[in-house]
Amino acid sequence: MARMDLSSKLAILADAAKYDASCASSGTAKRNARAGGIGSTEGKGICHAYAPDGRCISLLKILLTNACVFDCHYCINRKSSNVRRARFTPEEVVRLTLDFYRRNYIEGLFLSSGIIRSPDYTMEQIVRVAQSLREEHGFRGYLHLKTIPDADPDLVHQAGRFADRLSINVELPTAAGLKRLAPEKSPARIEGAMGRLRHAIDDAGDAKRRYKSAPIFAPAGQSTQMIVGADAATDGDIITRAAALYGRHALRRVYYSAFSPIPDASAVLPLRRPPLMREHRLYQSDWLMRFYGYAPAEVAAAADPVTAMLPLDIDPKLAWALRHRALFPADVNRAPREALLRVPGLGVKAVDAMLAARRQRRLRLADVARLTASLAKVRPFLIAEDWRPLALADRADLRALVAPRAEQLELF
Ligand code: SF4
Repeated sequence: MARMDLSSKLAILADAAKYDASCASSGTAKRNARAGGIGSTEGKGICHAYAPDGRCISLLKILLTNACVFDCHYCINRKSSNVRRARFTPEEVVRLTLDFYRRNYIEGLFLSSGIIRSPDYTMEQIVRVAQSLREEHGFRGYLHLKTIPDADPDLVHQAGRFADRLSINVELPTAAGLKRLAPEKSPARIEGAMGRLRHAIDDAGDAKRRYKSAPIFAPAGQSTQMIVGADAATDGDIITRAAALYGRHALRRVYYSAFSPIPDASAVLPLRRPPLMREHRLYQSDWLMRFYGYAPAEVAAAADPVTAMLPLDIDPKLAWALRHRALFPADVNRAPREALLRVPGLGVKAVDAMLAARRQRRLRLADVARLTASLAKVRPFLIAEDWRPLALADRADLRALVAPRAEQLELF
């Protein structure tokens, strides 16, 4: 690799990291620099900036290197790609992180890497960065480290001692997709590594509850990412896999990243990226499972029964309600919280506010209107003191009445 200055490396390795969507920081341990060191995860907490395409950019988000000995078809950094390569030393990453932090550009570091020489060697380099930041420079900011599933579990464990969050990408929603597009990766090894992380995170959490001085281990938990639209997996497949991962490994987040066609792409890949709206609908379905009490099968039931794809023109909660009209309308003055959470257009905060308010008085439609962005969407699905939708929920054209109007997007 030809010698390159730091800013040229940064240009290449920050650009190469943009394909990883799983960089949001949340739920970590409180940590500040009052006792020495630099940085904090308290006070204003970690704040984020978002690029126009919706990706988080407040962390210094880089790869250690975009060289890789693997050849995953969907990846611009694969061995056979003719992309320009660069590699940071661990010391360079440390210096950049501290410099950017002191200039108030970032609140933390998101570090991933192509696989150099071997999974163990790569993981050692990542651990060196984290250890140096924490132990030599007293860095208290946020650290999210990508871990290599095939690396020695001891190295991954060391990473967890320094990182706030660890992540291992499952990459593709199905084992068949992974076998076809990333044949050097193994679903069993990936899930094995996630399982070990879960145990280490749980054990550290238990120890911390019993002993204040117990060492922390990835207090912001683990996350993963799935690429959407690179293989034939349906939304139903993706929802089912995400639910299984949440259940088995207690993940904090599953991120969905719409596949981006890459230069010199392999012939087995689609030529076009899937609509970004598909990614958005999957995030919405994820929220339904995590915050609204929907079982995975229920979320999957929002998808088209033939194609197993979520509709793009309406959100999955509305799609589910339209398929289960017999369960509506819900009475805002009597229905339990779980039933109100299923009303399209009502969020968790709105439902909790209604539950608090109805202890004092009977709620009218105007009270609901103050808590929702779209009364037209909510009305067919609820009953209020002065509102009863009668046959509205049974109308054949209900979908057209409540679906958002199609708008011409701005071209520039
Ligand atoms: S291992 Fe990671 S960096 Fe290497 S080709 Fe596969 S996805 Fe890309």
